[in-house]
Amino acid sequence: MNSQLYTLTIGWLYPKLMSTYGDRGNVTTIERRSQWRGFDVKVLPLDQAATAEEIKSVDIIVGGGAQDRQQELVMRDLKGAKAEAMREKLDNGTPGVFTCGSPQLLGHYYEPAAGKRIEGLGILDLVSVHPGENTKRCIGNLVIEVTAKKLARDLEAMIGMKPYLVGFENHGGRTKLGKTEALGKVIYGLGNNGEDGTEGAFHQNAIATYSHGPLLPKNPFVADWLIQTALRLKYQQPIQLSPLNDELAQYAREAMLKKLKVELPTEKQRLPTVVS
Ligand code: GLN
Repeated sequence: MNSQLYTLTIGWLYPKLMSTYGDRGNVTTIERRSQWRGFDVKVLPLDQAATAEEIKSVDIIVGGGAQDRQQELVMRDLKGAKAEAMREKLDNGTPGVFTCGSPQLLGHYYEPAAGKRIEGLGILDLVSVHPGENTKRCIGNLVIEVTAKKLARDLEAMIGMKPYLVGFENHGGRTKLGKTEALGKVIYGLGNNGEDGTEGAFHQNAIATYSHGPLLPKNPFVADWLIQTALRLKYQQPIQLSPLNDELAQYAREAMLKKLKVELPTEKQRLPTVVS
């Protein structure tokens, strides 16, 4: 099918407030991997100037990490009709990737190191608490096995092996999950709270993770999953993603896994050629 028929709008949550940890790389990865396939891509900042209608108009949502103060500023704006629009999108399966400070705000609340509790959107059944400025932050390399059922199944079908994500975490807040499914289980690093072995969360088609890095360049098949999910939802048909050469990403992953002495199945990861 002529790929020029496909258009995608990436909604980028508060770019000026929530890009402290390089997560803009997730936006760039989705944008480039779509453009390399001939899709027409637009990036729409979903910031204080954005309307609820604009939130409803996007096909994929990306949210990055932020310091406590910026998170508080975001939540002063993301309420009312805008909050409802976000809930509607994520509950109805709009795909997205939300890193660290963003998923903390998609949960019930985030208690920062200092200051008052920040009420979240309650879309994800989770709470996050920063134990205080003198508590060691969770900082370091992260490797997880994706365990969220639907996502693990889709990714395994795409790459032909169990999906593992390689990343980097940097957070003070500790997250405890309620009914929302974990994104994965920690193979290396701390994850949600350094205690229960979970990392991130998964809701409908929204990926929540503590993995900066940014996540997608080191795990390009996740970017492809987001793109295919958005296109399938928008055009209501299976979309054939042409394969891309991800040798560099593969080398970066293998180099990191070797450095961390993490043994994973070595089968080469295939790229998605046909989306079921
Ligand atoms: N400020 C939050 C915390 O310290 C989120 C940090 C982040 O987004 N990396 O947990």
